[in-house]
Amino acid sequence: MIELADGVYGLGHGKGGHVHAFLIETAGELSLVDTLFEDDGRLVLDALRRLGRQPGDVKRIAITHGHRSHLGGLAALKRLTGAPVHAHAWEADIVAGDRRAQAVSILPQQSLRLIPFQLGLWLDRPRHAACAVDELLRDGDAFGPLQVLHVPGHSPGHLAFWWPERRFLIAGDGIATWPKLCAGWKAFNLNHLQHKTSLARLASLDAAIVGVGHGDAVTSGAADVVHALAEEFH
Ligand SMILES: [Zn+2]
Ligand SMILES: [Zn+2]
Repeated sequence: MIELADGVYGLGHGKGGHVHAFLIETAGELSLVDTLFEDDGRLVLDALRRLGRQPGDVKRIAITHGHRSHLGGLAALKRLTGAPVHAHAWEADIVAGDRRAQAVSILPQQSLRLIPFQLGLWLDRPRHAACAVDELLRDGDAFGPLQVLHVPGHSPGHLAFWWPERRFLIAGDGIATWPKLCAGWKAFNLNHLQHKTSLARLASLDAAIVGVGHGDAVTSGAADVVHALAEEFH
């Protein structure tokens, strides 16, 4: 766990493609964005203990999109925290286990290290523990102190989250820093035109800190980094 800014904690591990989740603390309440890979949510629970908090202090959970790496701990964490689960309508039935995430090509397009994840989507394995979504999020909604941004492209219901007071952006899989910095994993971006528009929107925020779905957060020169990724994307 790393404190990225006042009240902003990044949680990550090597599994799920160095997947990351984010805990947001305001006025004694915690909001969780994504749930890492492990299906028991243990890393999130460890983080809560280290913060001296109880599972019940988590008041809401949001999912950026319905890909397995981000959904691992969701069902267990919902059970333990009692927090309502939020997602975009397009992703909600994937999260609930009623529809599988769309497969992507299994051909190498960027890095051989991504092949297991491409294959995982293709085979729909490993599955996540299905979990009902309680609240649907739309662009402009509030999620705790965060503003919800609907930034499709990586997937149709892909969400990012923006905390203006901290200039902190959770870019989801719109940007990755593992295995290297890129505008999302190329093979996984389902709609390139939408993704290009979404990147431009993320760049316009001029974020100071950018948390990403895969890899470490961007903590220096973040606005320039996102601008460059948006401009270079084609
Ligand atoms: Zn994804
Ligand atoms: Zn992902």
